[in-house]
Amino acid sequence: MHPDSTTVWDNCLNYIRENISEQSFKTWFVPIVPIKLDNKVLTIQVPSQFFYEWLEEHYVVLLRQAIDRELGMEAKLEYSVIVDKGNDHSKPYTISLPTGKSGSPKGPNGQHKNPDNPFDLRSLDQIQQKSHLNPQYTFNTFIEGDCNRLARSAGFAVAAKPGVTSFNPLMVYGGVGLGKTHLVQAIGNEIKGNLNDKFVLYVSSEYFTNQFIEAVKNNKVQDFTNFYLQVDILIIDDVQFLSGKEKTQEIFFHIFNHLHQSGRQIIMTSDCPPRDLKGLEERLLSRFKWGLTADLQQPDLETRIAIIQKKMQADGIDIPANVIEYLAYSVDTNIRELEGVIISLIAHASLTKKDIDLELAKQTLKNIVQDIESEVGIDFIQKTVSDYFDVALDDLKAKTRKKEIVIARQTAMYFSKEYTNHSLKSIGYHFGGRDHSTVIHAVQSVNDMIDTDSKFKSSIEELKKKLKMRTV
Ligand code: ADP
Ligand code: MG
Repeated sequence: MHPDSTTVWDNCLNYIRENISEQSFKTWFVPIVPIKLDNKVLTIQVPSQFFYEWLEEHYVVLLRQAIDRELGMEAKLEYSVIVDKGNDHSKPYTISLPTGKSGSPKGPNGQHKNPDNPFDLRSLDQIQQKSHLNPQYTFNTFIEGDCNRLARSAGFAVAAKPGVTSFNPLMVYGGVGLGKTHLVQAIGNEIKGNLNDKFVLYVSSEYFTNQFIEAVKNNKVQDFTNFYLQVDILIIDDVQFLSGKEKTQEIFFHIFNHLHQSGRQIIMTSDCPPRDLKGLEERLLSRFKWGLTADLQQPDLETRIAIIQKKMQADGIDIPANVIEYLAYSVDTNIRELEGVIISLIAHASLTKKDIDLELAKQTLKNIVQDIESEVGIDFIQKTVSDYFDVALDDLKAKTRKKEIVIARQTAMYFSKEYTNHSLKSIGYHFGGRDHSTVIHAVQSVNDMIDTDSKFKSSIEELKKKLKMRTV
């Protein structure tokens, strides 16, 4: 019996789900409906033209891989795009996805002289293809701010003179979603643009480790090492992943020394400063300190706004300024989360055929922020506190100086500070655009009242219980 479209698509989904974030999966893949499978042509229905374009732009490789695995390389994918509400479907049209071995970079077919050996480089062409760089990660798209100035300019210097500056190795560290991968790939792209005879290679430490394990299994450790010794600029992402992997560290140490001694550039990232890297051999750690270590910090509001504007411009999407500002205020943890929220917003607008405005942004955010923070949000705190003190919700955001309202407002600010990840600035914004010093003052007043007023103190305890019921 032949598999049907639902089974095939379900298997594709399982594969896709493992390779992208849950949020992207929900946003872009859950709404897809498999329609038919006919002679290795799988037809899927997507909710709008925009959806189709987004999938093609962002997920084409992943889709190809999933389909390859299920139906083989000669299989095709057709989209049926819902043109309008109702049942009126457009005629499906065929899109040819890039063909080729799953996972290998796109490129002209049949060029791999020795497809069984991934370490075999025969031509410059292949060298270029193997850089594993995302062309969108450039300096041009990397917004400068106080949070990244040192790392960015060090990166720029390295890109201008790889292997020559004293920034070798260059180690960029910072929390998740703060732009490490983007920055180091920008360096790689810049070098490739300027000096196209250089072999630039970007690998994640995980990829490096897996490749090494494979090489050991297949008796190809020598090929593996030789391959890496040809690299002129080695970019290795998330080195914290090497912790505890002694054999991989050993080979990396060897490659590192060789490249460094022969004046090649090494660029690394990590999620913490080298001194805090656990499970890494001391001799390797001391190598990391030879060059320059630069950190990326949480971007401030202005930088966040600039980043969103730039991204939207690049994607040709128009989002009103007040929506951008609202999102930048509300999501201040990291840039990846911010992007995730915007992508959901765009998808939401496209699905419901609504314009992107503040109302829709608030709705979308409400659904997601709780997922992200898995804690109470400011909205919920404001509602709970205003109910408890029996004051109007709007008064918390208004200018009223009435005593009972001031107390309720300050209490809500206090809990927003205690229970959410919002910055003081962001909290102020959610209380009628007050500034951060007002929030500091509110927190202080509440602490004072807790110390001096036992009735107030028990109100706080009760409110804590109400809020916590939601937290767990
Ligand atoms: P990390 O590797 O530190 O986890 P990424 O480099 O993957 O973070 O960045 C997450 C997202 O944020 C990417 O889409 C990246 O393009 C974007 N980003 C981060 N910093 C900046 C910046 N300064 N300018 C523009 N985009 C940025
Ligand atoms: Mg990264």
